[in-house]
Amino acid sequence: MMKKITTIVIIAAVAVLIMIGFRSVVGRRQEGIFYAMGGIPVRVVAYDRTKGDFESDLREVESCVDRLENIFSRHRADSDVARLNAMGEGCTGDASPALIDLLRKSQRWSEKTGGAFDVTVGPVVSLWKDAAKMGRVPTEDDLAVARERVGMERLRIVDDNICLERSGMSIDLGAIAKGAIIDEAVSVLRRNGVVRGIVDAGGDVAAFGDGEFRIGIQDPRDRKKLMGTISIEEGGVVTSGDYERYAAIGGRRYSHIIDPRTGEPADELVSVTVVGPDAADADALATAISVMGREEGIEFLKEMPSFQAIIAWREADDSLNVWRSEGLAASSFSP
Ligand code: ADP
Ligand code: MG
Repeated sequence: MMKKITTIVIIAAVAVLIMIGFRSVVGRRQEGIFYAMGGIPVRVVAYDRTKGDFESDLREVESCVDRLENIFSRHRADSDVARLNAMGEGCTGDASPALIDLLRKSQRWSEKTGGAFDVTVGPVVSLWKDAAKMGRVPTEDDLAVARERVGMERLRIVDDNICLERSGMSIDLGAIAKGAIIDEAVSVLRRNGVVRGIVDAGGDVAAFGDGEFRIGIQDPRDRKKLMGTISIEEGGVVTSGDYERYAAIGGRRYSHIIDPRTGEPADELVSVTVVGPDAADADALATAISVMGREEGIEFLKEMPSFQAIIAWREADDSLNVWRSEGLAASSFSP
């Protein structure tokens, strides 16, 4: 009898020791950071990961982000998009599948939003940027010329060819690429066997795995503060209308988000946060709603049940007002 008890005690002790050992191998929450996409901090979190495995996860995420920037960024001289824009009228063969996928996704969002989202808006975006540098708004003539060069129907994709059908056209993926890149970072982590984690690029977030995630929503008046926190299940949370990114001309602020239908900067909303199944779609939709404005945006959201939003605007007396979808229950948002 005594011998049996001793054996049980020994087995139990060994089991506990194995479990303790196992815990230190399995690891806990890991977190790392690097800078990309024009110097924004990219924070990567993985749960239940050893330090060693996480170090290689982080390196792989960083090189994935860099690889995609080399495709999507119009600011990198030899990126696929920069070369496409430099080409003028014509077709590129051999386009990267990642670019074709993102352009097709962009075409779908352009159709759905009646042209509020349009990645061919490049010429008008550049015009306003140049105007800000010179300190005066663009002339009507310049705007008319730039607007002539915008139009999703003039971007055609046939097999692995991307064709721009008018000279002077340019593609700007600034409103969807960051979301797409953090989604791809999540795929890298999943492929590596991470079961739960977060990729946060300067406040735009993709989270994956079981359970809830608490995500802070930036206060548009003060980036260092939070306007509230929301609880979400896995998916993307992306904010458009970064309050610090605007052009000042003659004492007036002009948003970097352009209404492609008029060529004018969107000026009604202060910020739009969209929560959805993935970050690329949330990114596109956040920009589109910024263009649509409050009424059209809220109406549009009713037809998109898998997305939720928080919309902030300024009242006539300059106070900030916030609307949020019913799906983001009061309990999950505390301003
Ligand atoms: P943020 O830069 O605050 O994350 P967005 O995701 O809305 O905001 O992206 C804005 C960028 O997208 C602009 O800087 C410009 O390059 C491009 N852009 C501006 N207006 C549009 C539009 N209507 N549709 C698609 N892209 C746009
Ligand atoms: Mg966007």
